Amino acid sequence: MSHIVRYNKTKIIATMGPSTADVEVLKQIIIAGVDVCRINFSHGEWDAHLSMINKIRQVNEEMGTHVAILADLQGPKLRIGKVDENKMFLEDGATMLLTTEDTISKGNKIYVKYPTLAKDVKVGERVLLDDGKLELEFTKIVDEKNVEARVINGGYLSSNKGFNLPSSNLSVDSLTEKDRKDLEFIMKHDFDWIALSFVREADDIHNLRKILNENGSQARIIAKVEKPQAVENIDEIILATNAIMVARGDLGVEMPMEEVPMIQKRIVSKCIQASKPVIIATQMMESMIVSPTPTRAEANDVANAVMDGADAVMLSAETSVGEYALKAVQAVEKILGSTESGWDIYNKIKKPNPASPSFLSERICYATVSMSKGIGARAILSMTQTGYTAYKIASGRPNCDIFIFTANKKLLTRLSLVWNVRAYYYDSKTNTDDTIKGVIGMLVDDNLLEKGDVVINTAAMPVIENRKTNALKISIVE
Ligand code: PEP
Repeated sequence: MSHIVRYNKTKIIATMGPSTADVEVLKQIIIAGVDVCRINFSHGEWDAHLSMINKIRQVNEEMGTHVAILADLQGPKLRIGKVDENKMFLEDGATMLLTTEDTISKGNKIYVKYPTLAKDVKVGERVLLDDGKLELEFTKIVDEKNVEARVINGGYLSSNKGFNLPSSNLSVDSLTEKDRKDLEFIMKHDFDWIALSFVREADDIHNLRKILNENGSQARIIAKVEKPQAVENIDEIILATNAIMVARGDLGVEMPMEEVPMIQKRIVSKCIQASKPVIIATQMMESMIVSPTPTRAEANDVANAVMDGADAVMLSAETSVGEYALKAVQAVEKILGSTESGWDIYNKIKKPNPASPSFLSERICYATVSMSKGIGARAILSMTQTGYTAYKIASGRPNCDIFIFTANKKLLTRLSLVWNVRAYYYDSKTNTDDTIKGVIGMLVDDNLLEKGDVVINTAAMPVIENRKTNALKISIVE
């Protein structure tokens, strides 16, 4: 693994786009600390995505890095249609007709591209237009194609703006036709992570996993929490998914924005307890799309995500189309480093439940993390085949390095999303003693450990049998 890159414990996800399409810029942002590259399927064509994937893999190859690739599916984002002359004004208190009949929006008519609108909404429910800037309340279901609504917060509306129905029971599938086609591309090109948008319940995750399994894809699922139904069903969603993204853009439209900070904190805490990685996304460095420095509030927001215990923070337009992509990553990296060394975000592990099917392995991970504090360990070095031990150890938030060794090449990039984890390829062919010596030697050669350091190794003995983690050993580096 390369040691020219900067490492923080909290990981950085950067969304790819025109601002980061150049290989040299890509290298610079990776050196500055980017761990995961996000390809947003709401924008761009497959050709551009493929070219980006190839560049990321080329840079990984050249620099010895393990940057992961994340595909973010568009999901059932609702949109209005064309607006006459691309501008109409909705007056406060006016009555509008939302119609699913293909027409041009003008006067008091708004064309919405959602055929089952009249079936799915009820009088009294709200519709939010253009990221919540405009708000209307349904007053009358006129017929199966038309619904009347009163304008609560008016303003200008232009073509193709998104709209949200936060309290309605939507009948849309969580995977649209476009998502299904994109999935074929995503599975073919072996992405590490797939983010599913507008998740409402655990079945949304199960349905996606079924498709991945049927196609032999090992990509792992990130459930994007951006609907009130997902917040309500968060426990079952955390259980079903591999990771969570607190997608504050749509979440802040669908839920009262003043509730989002508490939702963020609760979800991060639940994910840590469940050993599932959790990402904080959207508007983290928003002003840096056009400005070379962040606002004080943005710096606070990033630091706050670290204090909450998030695995990763995500940049969106800041790195995809922003003028200061590299500076935005550098600013995030500085805030992460400063908060991680200046605030106690560590030792969150909870005692494993004896009823858990992997109780004994969990007990070893628990002992490892708590002992790492007690003995002042420099690092935890864990062997894993499935990644299970890496997720468990990381969720304990030990205040020392976590190095993961695996013969499973897929894990090398996938684990880049996980808090404080750095993965190395290692194929144990002999016994545990040799393996421990071997992995310590690798880190000494990389100048990541030195003589006298105390480290804890975990392994599954005997190494050649690929069992669950069942051993812990303390060593002093010689
Ligand atoms: C969000 O809404 O915060 C989000 C990350 O989703 P999108 O893919 O729409 O940016």
